[in-house]
Amino acid sequence: MKFRLLLALLVLPLGAQTTPFGTRVSDPAAAPTTITAPAAAPAAAPAAAPAAAPAAGGVSDEFVDNSVQVSPFRPTLLPEAKSTRTFQLSKLNRLGSTETTRELQRLYSAFATQSIVDGSPAGSSKAVGYLTTVTYSILQDLGDNRYLAKAAWPASGPNEALAPGVDTMALLLLEKPAKAGDTGKITGMHVGTVSVLFTPDFAPLKGRRLTLRREAFLECATLEDSPAGLQRFVEAIVAGAELSATTNETIPCKKCGGLGFTREAQKGQLLDKRVPCADCASTGKLIISVETKFVP
Ligand SMILES: [Zn+2]
Repeated sequence: MKFRLLLALLVLPLGAQTTPFGTRVSDPAAAPTTITAPAAAPAAAPAAAPAAAPAAGGVSDEFVDNSVQVSPFRPTLLPEAKSTRTFQLSKLNRLGSTETTRELQRLYSAFATQSIVDGSPAGSSKAVGYLTTVTYSILQDLGDNRYLAKAAWPASGPNEALAPGVDTMALLLLEKPAKAGDTGKITGMHVGTVSVLFTPDFAPLKGRRLTLRREAFLECATLEDSPAGLQRFVEAIVAGAELSATTNETIPCKKCGGLGFTREAQKGQLLDKRVPCADCASTGKLIISVETKFVP
């Protein structure tokens, strides 16, 4: 699934490119020392300029290489859930059970925001990257519904695993064709960082062949968080679908037993010394990622 989505963003290079960036671009694993693209594109221009023009001394009108290469650079990594539990539908609202209607609704809301509508038999699949709202203004059409855009998005994921973007360039894979200058807002799934080798056709980088490493987002639709959506979700579980939702849950700190401190015996003293618990920053609570699996 993830591989397929990423492939959608990429164009495999046809034959060797003679750019000095060529080998590095095609071998992202060998590129840890090249994470150099600064956030502001204009600042990247001087570094990239020597490699850009075919003729020395600037941009040549004779030959402009407009081919585009997009290579995976750093895949998106979703955190593994620290703990798992099950939610048993048959126990719903039974006395003393934790399976309540309210809890089911809360978990379904999480499930809906972590799933994307697609052409799979179930109609949706688990999102393989963080979902966020991306506001964009298209800078350049890179072909195959891929666009370089000036974009902004809020942080997403636990502990803001996906950092927010503010007026930054990003690569977007849109559902519908667009053109430079178009603006809009999409639900985007973060598919990692990609390396884009292209020739900008916008100022101030126009005509300079360069490589940018940018966050990439795939336009997608999330499941509907509605009673009807919840109904279909329950029916799917009863029919045997293996579904789960990941949420952050607050649990008592194991190290200090939820007290926020541990005790240390003091020689010759009646009272123990209280040592603040570092694990939970003396709060007595921990927030952990929990995967809840749903069973009939
Ligand atoms: Zn603690």
